[in-house]
Amino acid sequence: MDRTKLRNTGTAELRADLLARHGELSAAYRTAVREAAERQRHRLADGSGDDEGDRGLKAQEREQDLALVDTARQRMAQVNEALDRLDAGGYGLCEHCGAPIPPDRLVAFPAATHCVTCGSAADTRH
Ligand SMILES: [Zn+2]
Repeated sequence: MDRTKLRNTGTAELRADLLARHGELSAAYRTAVREAAERQRHRLADGSGDDEGDRGLKAQEREQDLALVDTARQRMAQVNEALDRLDAGGYGLCEHCGAPIPPDRLVAFPAATHCVTCGSAADTRH
């Protein structure tokens, strides 16, 4: 068994998974931005006769849209950071016990810095 080769293969697969994830997230981000802009246009277009309550509701909706856009952007940024850390080396190892974090977990949670065991231990502590 060539351990180096195994590790490199794992990294290449993880990178491919993360890049695929990045593609999905940037598509989701663009959709969120477009939909937020569209809804804002509708809200502005239909602004005649707004009373205080309507304006409040619209402001609230606008905030929710922006929060969605922001979440999508953050998730994309997390994948970018994960790819950077992958290049720098040391990505995918648990910060607590040093065990490799399963690639599935990394793709689902690119910002994961703990393995499942240490992660759930941290969750129950807080
Ligand atoms: Zn751990």
